[in-house]
Amino acid sequence: MIDTIVVGAGIAGIATARLLHSTGRRVVVLEGRDRIGGRMWTDRTAGFSVDRGASWIHGLVGNPLTELVAGVGMRTVESTVGSFQAGGRPIANYDEQYGLLDEQAASRWVADVEAADRQLQAAVAASEPGANYAQATERALSALEWDPERKARVQEFYRHRIEEQCGAFIEDVAAHGLDEDTIDGDEVLFPGGYDALPRALAEGLDIRLGRTVKAISWSTSGVHVETETESFEAANAVVTVPLGVLKAGAITFSPELPEPVSSSIDRIGMGVFNKVFLQFRERFWPDGVYAIRQLGAASVPWHSWYDVSAVSGKPMLLTFAGGRWGRQIETMSDEEIVTSVLASLRRIYGDAVPEPVGHWITRWGSDEFARGSYSYIAAGASHADHDAMATPVGGVLHLAGEATWSVDPATVHGALLSGHRAAERVLGRPVALGSLLDVVAPSATPE
Ligand SMILES: Cc1cc2nc3c(=O)[nH]c(=O)nc-3n(C[C@H](O)[C@H](O)[C@H](O)COP(=O)(O)OP(=O)(O)OC[C@H]3O[C@@H](n4cnc5c(N)ncnc54)[C@H](O)[C@@H]3O)c2cc1C
Repeated sequence: MIDTIVVGAGIAGIATARLLHSTGRRVVVLEGRDRIGGRMWTDRTAGFSVDRGASWIHGLVGNPLTELVAGVGMRTVESTVGSFQAGGRPIANYDEQYGLLDEQAASRWVADVEAADRQLQAAVAASEPGANYAQATERALSALEWDPERKARVQEFYRHRIEEQCGAFIEDVAAHGLDEDTIDGDEVLFPGGYDALPRALAEGLDIRLGRTVKAISWSTSGVHVETETESFEAANAVVTVPLGVLKAGAITFSPELPEPVSSSIDRIGMGVFNKVFLQFRERFWPDGVYAIRQLGAASVPWHSWYDVSAVSGKPMLLTFAGGRWGRQIETMSDEEIVTSVLASLRRIYGDAVPEPVGHWITRWGSDEFARGSYSYIAAGASHADHDAMATPVGGVLHLAGEATWSVDPATVHGALLSGHRAAERVLGRPVALGSLLDVVAPSATPE
């Protein structure tokens, strides 16, 4: 008899399974893909790491990942720009005429964002229920006596910040959509690839790949889980599939998921955020720069390029397409996308931009096991909806995953912590997160 079936072998599912396994529970993980890690996915086909999903730890301070990645021996490189900050680390900002902002102009730009952010905080606090982020930013900017071009530049920045943080169009996100978006400490990337973490934590677990779960029946006495070809009985289940998969109804629940779980699934949004990596033979952008940022009207559709050469050891830039543009690029060919990115870079650097020698492009929106990149608080939803999604069902069914964690949704650490919570709910008692690093004794007997 299986104690717990975990659906999904992303970081949330693996954390749940490992914590339960460490107490001696019999756990089976069913994963639809032919690999583990889910939205942590390192492509090593070129002989170096390219993280197609998550790549940054967003803030090392107070983050459970800091200890975990050290514990499994992963090497990190500091790269504190993954969270779309205006200032902080060296960023080469380009104006509407593609000219580099000198030091003074860059400081004025950062001060503008900071001044607008202060107004934005007040505008968000005063926003009506159901208001969207665009309305809050308009209200914030209207309180500033600036000329229209100065305001437009900050408005464009806000639009892109939302696209990157939420994978959504600014009008679709709740005014409170970025309230929890705090970063404490440096951010880091992983030269060995971020999916080394789920791989390490998966060791010794019973994970069955290529098992797409289609139906889950539940009653207070247990669960019955069906894949395309097999069925499983267990005392309980933890379902960690992405919000996009739940929204699409790809798994049938019977009885249907009750309130408040079902309406939270409807209200929370699933964003699309895609990555385009370009590898060059030689670098053509300034030395020591963490990010290149195009400001103002010229920042559509491409606006930010991150130097991720330290990860691969090759000259590489990473740019993002989020929200509507993120969905649109999924209808374009690789060649069209690369040509479009190069056109934007050449407006800044001219003929110095050579043809890339390699590219990697993601299409998370059309990935059937993700159906989007990560969750966001859509207009009309609230932070509480994330936790409400994880309300235990019938004492036997638990949802986990980044979308169920209200403090830091859309992150690896949020997903990990949601898996920890699910394990504790299954056990009915606390279990230390640190025991993820324990070696499971082969003699462990079920509790
Ligand atoms: C492009 C991109 C960049 C990101 N960047 C960062 C970053 O820099 N830092 C950060 O902290 N976070 C980042 N994130 C978010 C982070 O990757 C996720 O929050 C986290 O990995 C989610 O983990 P999870 O376990 O909740 O879900 P997932 O990793 O998606 O795991 C769910 C698993 O369920 C499986 N599954 C789906 N349907 C079925 C089914 N029917 N049957 C069986 N299995 C199924 C999936 O294949 C998957 O393996 C990024 C995400 C994306 C897409």
